[in-house]
Amino acid sequence: MAADELGLGCQACEQALRSGGPSDRSVLLLDTLRVPLVGCAEHRDHFASVCGLTTTAEHELLQHRPAGGLGCPSCQLAMTRPTHPVVPVGDGAVGVLGCQDHQTAAIDRYQDGLAMAEHLSASLPSA
Ligand SMILES: [Zn+2]
Ligand SMILES: [Zn+2]
Repeated sequence: MAADELGLGCQACEQALRSGGPSDRSVLLLDTLRVPLVGCAEHRDHFASVCGLTTTAEHELLQHRPAGGLGCPSCQLAMTRPTHPVVPVGDGAVGVLGCQDHQTAAIDRYQDGLAMAEHLSASLPSA
């Protein structure tokens, strides 16, 4: 396997996506959504804060499984599956380890967040 197989600018993400251990994972809490993510700490953070733009509620990134688990048996199962969608985040990427429904929900929130960030910066007066 070539080192640049995923072609990411972030080696830490590459490493996490290829052979991530528990420390490369965290669980994103966003409203009622709980989605396990894999990637380097920096890009997981970035993904979470972009998703956080879509809510006025608190969002949180947990380093451990939330009390009571994920609340979704399909997500619990999906975490043990080797394949998951990978979302480009800056020069890295984050894998979304939830079930199909929650993957889609998380990716939608991220894309909405990105659109909002763009809108925000577009509406700022140019210096
Ligand atoms: Zn990264
Ligand atoms: Zn789920």
